[in-house]
Amino acid sequence: MLNSIFNLSSYHWNPYSVPYYLVGMLTLVEGIFIFVQNRRALVNAAYALSCLVVSLWLTGMGMVFNSSFEATALLWARWYVFLGIIFITPSIYFFSVSWEKALFPGRKTKKDKLVIVNFLCGLGFYFLCLNSESFISGLWHNSWGFYPKAGWAYIIFVAWFYGLMILMLLNFIAIYRREKDLVVRRQAKLMIAAFSIAYLGSLEFLLNYGVSLYLLAFVPVFICITIVGYSVIRYRMMDIETAVHKTVAWVFGNLILIAPFGVIFYFSRSWCHGLSNLTFFIYLSGLLLAFLIFFRAFQPKIDHFFQRRRYDLEAILSRFIDEIIHLKGIGKLSQRIQDTIKETLYPQKVDILICNQAEKKSPFLVWLAKNNKIVYSEFIDIDPGLAQIKEAAKWYFDNTSSVVVIPLVLGDDLLGLINLGKKANLKRYSAVDFHFLNILRNQSAIAISNSLVYENIEEQVRVRTEELVEVQNQLTQAAKLASVGTLAGGVAHEINNPLAAILTNAQMLLASLDDLDADELKDSLELIEEATKRCRVIVKKLMTYARKPMEVSEVVVVDLLEVVEKVNSFLGYQLQQENITIAVKAEEAQYPAVGNHNEFEQVVTNLVLNAKDAIKRVKKSGQVEISLSKNDNWIRLDIKDEGSGIPKDDIPKIFDPFFTTKDVGKGLGLGLSISQSIIEKYKGSIFLKSKEGEGTTFTVNLPLAG
Ligand code: ADP
Repeated sequence: MLNSIFNLSSYHWNPYSVPYYLVGMLTLVEGIFIFVQNRRALVNAAYALSCLVVSLWLTGMGMVFNSSFEATALLWARWYVFLGIIFITPSIYFFSVSWEKALFPGRKTKKDKLVIVNFLCGLGFYFLCLNSESFISGLWHNSWGFYPKAGWAYIIFVAWFYGLMILMLLNFIAIYRREKDLVVRRQAKLMIAAFSIAYLGSLEFLLNYGVSLYLLAFVPVFICITIVGYSVIRYRMMDIETAVHKTVAWVFGNLILIAPFGVIFYFSRSWCHGLSNLTFFIYLSGLLLAFLIFFRAFQPKIDHFFQRRRYDLEAILSRFIDEIIHLKGIGKLSQRIQDTIKETLYPQKVDILICNQAEKKSPFLVWLAKNNKIVYSEFIDIDPGLAQIKEAAKWYFDNTSSVVVIPLVLGDDLLGLINLGKKANLKRYSAVDFHFLNILRNQSAIAISNSLVYENIEEQVRVRTEELVEVQNQLTQAAKLASVGTLAGGVAHEINNPLAAILTNAQMLLASLDDLDADELKDSLELIEEATKRCRVIVKKLMTYARKPMEVSEVVVVDLLEVVEKVNSFLGYQLQQENITIAVKAEEAQYPAVGNHNEFEQVVTNLVLNAKDAIKRVKKSGQVEISLSKNDNWIRLDIKDEGSGIPKDDIPKIFDPFFTTKDVGKGLGLGLSISQSIIEKYKGSIFLKSKEGEGTTFTVNLPLAG
């Protein structure tokens, strides 16, 4: 009777069997794959066993569908299909228990015994199935083929089957609740979903009890193995690390490239028939050429996308070296190094670390600096050179989640490290890769060292500039105090007159107190009051000027006419005492420029005081002319005097700090240099026209605000 199994005539074509074979085979392949990944792990073996029995059930059902005779179908069902079906639940239960044990090792559990008991029960049912009609009593005849008919004892099997299924689900739920690791919890959730769905396939048995349904058991099983496959790829379930094999996608991608040419060729066949041999040959060559050009342009992109590209490492290195010479700054440099390694070797990650002094003291890093050698985690146990530093190296790789560490050493100094993760396609790093990395790291070390020096210089320049600004601020203040000194003489002069008035009136009052009538008394006192107020105003002005700090940060729109007027009100009287007048010429109402009021005031004061000194040097009296004008973009401020003028030889030195022709104690030689730096700070310019003996005009140009 067994012969009929091997006789081809016992079978016929039945399309219903196809999905059962396909899913059955797929399940088997998944089981074998998972088993091969880690043969020593019980949990992997248990899962593989589950896959094996499920595939027996599904492929067996395929054979039952294909059977032409009842006898053949019955043989397949009893010996093969039910060998699968009966052992499904014990196997999956075994899987759930072994997974639990792998996750929580050392836990005492009686579930092992239950596993054995259930396998024994399974054997009992199988024995019953083979030897008794009570388990399978015959076959149902359906439109799609045969289906095993349940005997009276079958219901006991169903009860056991579902009981065990519930125990298995409870195991997964227990794992989910007990586990703290989020990834494992997610795996457990997926397993609960996967096996709950898979068991829907078992509802086929309802066919025996009057529920007529079309057999679709392969669908839930397919969903289940897909979920498990996903868990393996996404969450390293059962400690399996795998990259989705991209070969299929790569072949497909290339086919898409070739397809258009195939289509063109196919549809031009009939047209080709009419061609002479020569024209056909030309046509074919043209098509081939177009194909080659097209393929050369796009194929590398597909290779790159699927990480299959074999690079010309030499070309990449020479391009890399060319590029990094021009890069300034550690940031850009690191980015370039990272990109080059990523594009070429496809590591999952590339980290570049620049070492600081403290880090350099760690033993592994000291070793790296001394030995100057790339370390690959896979060689730690085999390479005798690494023996003494083994533990530190392992610790380093664990903590940085990397597998390759590339020291960047120059001289004896460890500048930094490059850490590489695993390759995205899980291939190992090859000798060629290390050769490439070695050249890359030498070049990188030089470039990084240069960059560090460069950044250091930049930092120093920044610090020095800050210091200079500070010194300049101090100088500005010094110059101001110096001009206060100059002013003091004038101020004394100014105060002298009101003081004389006060004194005279006070003395007069004292001398003739009794003779004065009320009106005369009032007049004198009013004179004293007025003179005192004048003094107060003068002193106040001087104090404000000397003490006002340089509020450099306050940059606003300043009206230059206002500035000129303020200086005029302040210096006017003083200059008047020395027979010098200030004439302001301005046609417009406003001359707005961006800057700082104090600073502009200081510039105008300096220029006016210099003009005054120049006039006094040659004349008894004179005029300082301040004129303002503007066009669309600029404001022009001229300060003109008819004083001594400046000797030709002195003109180039005039803006130099500490250049002065004034007597010791009278000039510091800072006024013009500070004025120039203030004007240039606000994007303006200052220059002069002078003729010895005739006079000088200083011109300030400032951008018109707004
Ligand atoms: P200081 O006034 O303290 O000497 P400055 O930098 O303001 O410093 O001026 C430098 C020198 O430029 C002056 O000593 C003077 O010789 C010359 N100078 C400046 N302005 C004039 C001017 N309007 N006419 C002639 N000489 C001038």
